[in-house]
Amino acid sequence: MKNIQAFRTLIDRPQSVVIVTHFKPDADALGSSLGLAGFLKKKGHKVQVITPSDYPDFLSWMPGNNEVLALDRKPETLQKASGIISGANVIFCLDFSSLSRINDLGVLVRDSPAAKVLIDHHLEPEHFAQFEQWDITSASTAGLVYELIEQLDEAHMIDINIASCLYAGLMTDTGGFRHNNTHHREFLIAARLVGLGADPHEIAKEVYDTNTLERLRLTGYVLSQKLNVLPEYHTAYMTLSQDELKQFGAQTGDTEGLVNYGLSIKGVKLSVLMYDRKEEIKLSFRSLEDFSVNEMARKYFEGGGHRNASGGTTKLSLEQTLKKFLEILPEYKEQLQK
Ligand code: 5GP
Ligand code: MN
Repeated sequence: MKNIQAFRTLIDRPQSVVIVTHFKPDADALGSSLGLAGFLKKKGHKVQVITPSDYPDFLSWMPGNNEVLALDRKPETLQKASGIISGANVIFCLDFSSLSRINDLGVLVRDSPAAKVLIDHHLEPEHFAQFEQWDITSASTAGLVYELIEQLDEAHMIDINIASCLYAGLMTDTGGFRHNNTHHREFLIAARLVGLGADPHEIAKEVYDTNTLERLRLTGYVLSQKLNVLPEYHTAYMTLSQDELKQFGAQTGDTEGLVNYGLSIKGVKLSVLMYDRKEEIKLSFRSLEDFSVNEMARKYFEGGGHRNASGGTTKLSLEQTLKKFLEILPEYKEQLQK
């Protein structure tokens, strides 16, 4: 952070703090938010984490989860969030950098006179915050929160609860320390967090090994019935309709990770999952090497993310979304064949 002195002055006095993260938070979004919340509470701030939607059950073990205000489509919940945001002096925005990713909260955050702090690692941010810990070379927002605390010389305040939340974000955004964003820096942070009490085995178990039978059956169904490969495009794609998701009793988070199976097929360079989230069609993109799914998601699907992992949405039907995707593929044929 460039203006770290001014930031230090800001947070050295007790403040009313709001932390917001993106719609359908993943482990990095929630873990970085709850880790930061734990730290700021210890510093004497009043802190409220607000999420624009619910999140998967496999994140509910995170210390501080019970105090999260998650929007649920009820007007009174939004009202409550609005009241809390208008009383905040400092708003932290974690793991997203475009206000459209927090839906109804976007305008509330934009219009608030509070000091805003952005901590994020996505490409092409909107610069709406006075303080930015923004670094696209960092694998996770949780890692950036850790480094910010270290920059403040306050890493000694990180307890086992804070360390566990941050470790979870780092672990998942590196795909269990496997993705090409996993560098020396990530292992250094992981080692520090483990030194401060995070338990790699316990956290991996909570996040990866707490499947419901329904989720495993859904995975089996997708792999056996819904995974399509277009060899000439080195592309794999999967679609899931509302009916299919209902048939397997799918819960928030049950589709997470499915897109990676497509990318694990030998020769595949681009994998896409499209599913009907009721309010919109959600797309998840993964790619290998220099093929930028960020560019594709941004140009055609109102989305973005990282070069090799991005997301997007459409207001089209699932069939129309698939049609659109198949129609744009030829534009990328040459790149995909490289
Ligand atoms: P996932 O496919 O796991 O939902 O997301 C992959 C990456 O793309 C994550 O870093 C996520 O934050 C980002 N992402 C997912 N959906 C969207 C979206 O609708 N808009 C933008 N800008 N980024 C997204
Ligand atoms: Mn992240």
